[in-house]
Amino acid sequence: MEIPSLDVFKLGFIGAGNMAESIARGVAKSGVLPATAIRTSHYRAERRSVFQSFGFQILESSGQVVADSDIVILSVKPQIARKVLLELKPFFTDDKLLVSIAAGIKMRDLQEWSGQHRIIRVMPNTPAAVGEAASVMCVGEMATEKDKERVVSLFKAIGKIWTADEKFFDAVTGLSGSGPAYVYIAIEALADGGVAAGLPRDLALALASQTVLGAASMVDMSGKHPGQLKDAVTSPAGTTIAGIHELEKGGFRGTLMSAIIAATKRCCELS
Ligand code: NAD
Repeated sequence: MEIPSLDVFKLGFIGAGNMAESIARGVAKSGVLPATAIRTSHYRAERRSVFQSFGFQILESSGQVVADSDIVILSVKPQIARKVLLELKPFFTDDKLLVSIAAGIKMRDLQEWSGQHRIIRVMPNTPAAVGEAASVMCVGEMATEKDKERVVSLFKAIGKIWTADEKFFDAVTGLSGSGPAYVYIAIEALADGGVAAGLPRDLALALASQTVLGAASMVDMSGKHPGQLKDAVTSPAGTTIAGIHELEKGGFRGTLMSAIIAATKRCCELS
């Protein structure tokens, strides 16, 4: 049987920070690309050594990274995206794909600043560092089917990815972009509750974290609606319904909804 050949392409990062490192490591670890196909520039010495330690190539300048890549991931902070893309404009050519993960930077600005027409915008989140990112992508009009397939393969290496229209990106930022922080607070509060009920701190924290992980996996893997799963664990006059009553009295659902709406509005103001 013929083994299908690997789709090897050159992947460059402009901005070798935390998110770039998560993506590059995930892509190399999962075998989507060999480490030698991944490159960035030596913008900051300490980042250079981190990238070099994984076998990624370090080129002389960001211009060289663009010139020597098939896919360029823009992973600098949004505040400097305009300046960086304007400087790199001469290096972009029609055979390249620009992928931007810069929060709040719109497709039309990316196009104007870079002069590039093949663009895909992606919004990942920080669990990318442990291979559990929730990413959403918006595919520009000129991007090809192959561009889309390659971007899906890159971001599947660090978690899961969905496609959505660009108009949803502020809400995506409010939910999955900011969401990990809400869940960290929920885990901390569950652990505090356990301590208040008499558990040792380390056991309470471990139980809280694993309970959130387990519940998320149940929703994901059972295919059941969360309300159905909740009903299945609430017996009449039992312990769980007593706890749920307190959550409802405290406006738990409304508070979470308000948090997403507030973060979405703020993202809209900033972009
Ligand atoms: P970071 O600060 O860790 O990384 C940015 C990197 O860019 C730094 O290493 C910095 O040295 C480098 N840099 C600065 N100026 C540069 C220049 N002129 N040329 C080349 N490199 C330069 O930030 P991060 O958390 O990795 O975020 C990167 C991007 O990802 C941001 O645009 C952010 O909006 C987006 N993003 C982040 C998250 C997240 O949760 N961290 C989620 C979604 C999207």
